[in-house]
Amino acid sequence: MARALELLDAGQVVALPTETVYGLAADALNPEAVARIFEAKERPRFDPLIVHLPEQKALDHVSKIETEIVPQLTQAFWPGPLTIVLRKRDTIPDIVTAGLETVAIRMSANPIFMKIAAKFGRPIAAPSANRFGQISPTRASHVFDELGGRIALIVDGGPTQHGIESTIVRIVNGSIEILRNGPITAEKLAQFAPIVKGRSSDTVAAPGQLPSHYAPHAKLVVVATLENVLGWSGKRIAALSFRDSTALHRFWTRAYLSERGDLREAAANLFQKLRQLDRQNPDLIVAELVPEEGIGAAINERLRRAAVK
Ligand code: AMP
Ligand code: MG
Repeated sequence: MARALELLDAGQVVALPTETVYGLAADALNPEAVARIFEAKERPRFDPLIVHLPEQKALDHVSKIETEIVPQLTQAFWPGPLTIVLRKRDTIPDIVTAGLETVAIRMSANPIFMKIAAKFGRPIAAPSANRFGQISPTRASHVFDELGGRIALIVDGGPTQHGIESTIVRIVNGSIEILRNGPITAEKLAQFAPIVKGRSSDTVAAPGQLPSHYAPHAKLVVVATLENVLGWSGKRIAALSFRDSTALHRFWTRAYLSERGDLREAAANLFQKLRQLDRQNPDLIVAELVPEEGIGAAINERLRRAAVK
């Protein structure tokens, strides 16, 4: 556990047991640490992650509680396998929520996870500790099979208690909408508010399917290189590139993703830089694709998705 804390403090990822499945944990407030989660999982895209709180009090620090139902649910089911989707505060970096205005939050009841989270004292982002597209690990050995050699530490807490992922809900007009079924059943939740059946969270998580998924307001096009982009005179063109370059300076406004040409840093900055350009109301955003390697694939996927809107 001491080693896990050292790694979390250093912005590294570590596999931890929860009561549902093993999670791949990182400091939720550190965008580069979160980018490492996507790298380790080899996810070809950014999906919103679940944030695990160190204590109930932290809820107000990361999200806006807009209904009395939320404290009722947290009192009844936390720590435990219930994830609640709430409006996020700016404390949570955009890479955690894949640009969404909402954040999925829970508190794990696994004693090892709880101890580490409490000592760490900050929220922990943790998706299931498997490679992209593989099934969720319920034993440390499963994590080792999937991610051995790719991460520095797996904390072995034995087989997980539930073996299935947490229930995910959000509150809509005083009702509880179930986005993913899990250990906390509709029957248990119905004691607190009427239940409405949501779309399955697989559908929600599919590219472009999330209802409030962030997309720039401005029209966006992707290009292989900014070098050849000419003739935009009279238009307010915003340019986004991987690194700083002279080509950037021809544009009305500009941003680059990484000073040192590092894809992880680029991933950590992506959503924020897109917003920054979009807020200036350009006529068009021209985004240069990044090298299609490692986490670069997820960055390019996000840019292409913003372009087809
Ligand atoms: P995993 O951590 O691998 O169990 O997956 C996390 C799940 O939480 C995915 O199915 C996501 O779609 C879902 N999720 C995370 N954040 C949100 C959100 N803000 N709104 C809706 N679903 C979310
Ligand atoms: Mg998963």
